[in-house]
Amino acid sequence: MDSRKPLIAGNWKMFGRSGDLAEMAATLDAVGPAAAAVDVAFCPPATLLAAAAERLRGRLARVGAQDVSPLPDGAHTGDLSAGMLAEAGASFCIVGHSERRKDHGESDATVAAKATAAARAGLAPIVCVGETLAEREAGRALAVVEAQLAGSIPEDAPDALVVAYEPVWAIGTGLTPTTAEIAAMHGHIRALLGARFGRRAGGMRVLYGGSVKPGNAGEIFAVPSVDGALVGGASLKAADFSAIILSHPAARG
Ligand code: PEP
Repeated sequence: MDSRKPLIAGNWKMFGRSGDLAEMAATLDAVGPAAAAVDVAFCPPATLLAAAAERLRGRLARVGAQDVSPLPDGAHTGDLSAGMLAEAGASFCIVGHSERRKDHGESDATVAAKATAAARAGLAPIVCVGETLAEREAGRALAVVEAQLAGSIPEDAPDALVVAYEPVWAIGTGLTPTTAEIAAMHGHIRALLGARFGRRAGGMRVLYGGSVKPGNAGEIFAVPSVDGALVGGASLKAADFSAIILSHPAARG
């Protein structure tokens, strides 16, 4: 049986000013020593990365970026390289979030290149995959996610790779799949990782993301093969994010 430390990561998306960084400390204060039982990460906008990392120095949490250029440092106006993000203090990097796939036309190949760039700079890539509502209703959810995984996870994926299963229709909507649907998808993803990476897959975490709230986190964390959560809206407020973290069985001891 593989033992993977749970990861609960907050994706602040394009929200947050420096004043909001206080929510991180408030979250950790509310969680207390239980934060040692899980990995906690905050992914603020890039403008706040360095300040967030500074604020979290010596605390039980790390920071992550929300995106990265697939390219090394160079003449690419507006982009940020993985090396820059690492220097700013990031330990994780979300790649292939459905908002970027949709808003910026990111393909699986682009996502894989970003994951490779992140890993080379020492960042653990959090590769997001997930089906649309139409795809689920057509009975294609497993096949869609399988294809996304095949195309978005590079051959040289690090052991620290994280997959976030985020059904597009569940993000920011208050809707979630049933726990049986989450279990089926996570079991499928775990089997695919095992088939592709063998024993190395044992350390790769698979998170659920999409409308995780204090009220549903406990039942989601109880689903087999769910190694934690990627949390959007509810990660912005310390009361909600700390309640989510504390509802993980590992945090409850
Ligand atoms: C996300 O953006 O990754 C996400 C899961 O958002 P939310 O929790 O708000 O649905």
